[in-house]
Amino acid sequence: MSTNNLDFIRSDLSKLEAYIPTINEEISQTLDILDANESPFDLPLELKEKLANIYQQQINNNRYPNGSYLDLKLAIANYVNQSGKLEQNTILKENISIGNGSDELIRSILIATCLNDQGSILVANPTFSMYQILAETLGIQVINIERLKSDFSIDLKLANNALNNSNSIKIIFIVNPNSPTGNCLNNEEIKWLEEIPKNILVVIDEAYFEFSNQSLINKLNQHSNWLILRTFSKAFRLASHRVGYAIANSEIIKILEKIRLPYNLPSFSQKATQLVLDNSNLILNSVKNIIEERDRLYQILQKNSSLKIWKSDANFLYLQLAENSTYINLKQIKDNLQQQGTLIRHTGGGLRITIGTPKENDLMLARMNKIINQLNS
Ligand SMILES: *Cc1c(COP(=O)(O)O)cnc(C)c1O
Repeated sequence: MSTNNLDFIRSDLSKLEAYIPTINEEISQTLDILDANESPFDLPLELKEKLANIYQQQINNNRYPNGSYLDLKLAIANYVNQSGKLEQNTILKENISIGNGSDELIRSILIATCLNDQGSILVANPTFSMYQILAETLGIQVINIERLKSDFSIDLKLANNALNNSNSIKIIFIVNPNSPTGNCLNNEEIKWLEEIPKNILVVIDEAYFEFSNQSLINKLNQHSNWLILRTFSKAFRLASHRVGYAIANSEIIKILEKIRLPYNLPSFSQKATQLVLDNSNLILNSVKNIIEERDRLYQILQKNSSLKIWKSDANFLYLQLAENSTYINLKQIKDNLQQQGTLIRHTGGGLRITIGTPKENDLMLARMNKIINQLNS
């Protein structure tokens, strides 16, 4: 069938590629998956068994899911208040919208603000690629600026120039801590965000909050133009269920609810989310193990003179080659690690390595050493 005559398709889509995740069933059985910042730990068996029972007893497969999520929103709001050490009822269920992954919320935010040539977005690279990818599928312009090479903080001079030179910017997307570089916002960046004019939406993506334990949630009520994104895909170990949430003032949330597809969250995902929230201490126990492993790997990798590595506040490490090791390249390392059995991410001019189980991490280190020794000799 010819594909040349799909005249009904928007012409700007022809230059886009579909997003192809690296993971498939075959790969995940043969490789250590350290490329997507998931938790290396499945749910504890006791919770899987509970979930199996819930599936059997509470889910009517022939019925649409509960479509209002009121109980789940309440449980999320409580978690946000507790984990953020906020007074009870600071964040209410009216301040929460739930998405099929935070990716869906990112798309809803773009639809609500910039669609129909109504605006563009600002991102500081390297950062999470999904803002750009989703914007482009909607025909929304992306204004890219660079981060500082030293610590990956946002180059605020460039950012202010971009804001001054373009009156189209409607959203600034910030990850805190940033992916792939692992750094949290510094005081200067936070001050800058606090002074962004109210006609620009500031999206603060806190996907790694449980690892960094740093959040701007305590300032949210003072900023009607701020929105915080969180996810259950990382520390809460629910990546397979696709659940993310937005926290913002109730007027913004009402708009997101208008755009949300009915029943965007399958029944089983709702139940799984409620279960992990009810057992958050048990689930989040693994966070400290992952942080210990992260710091152990950092100490070891940092001694390798071929590598340059940065401290991280998340569940991954970011590294580049030391300036004197130009004879190896990052893609070689990534490909060679994959041949040996460890999948990592080559992105944003560096390598991003998710913290896995201690065994996966030890294998990664041994494999990395082997590559670097070979290439150096
Ligand atoms: C992993 C990640 C997410 C999570 O996306 P989901 O769609 O909720 O799985 C969001 N933002 C960033 C920066 C991430 O790294």
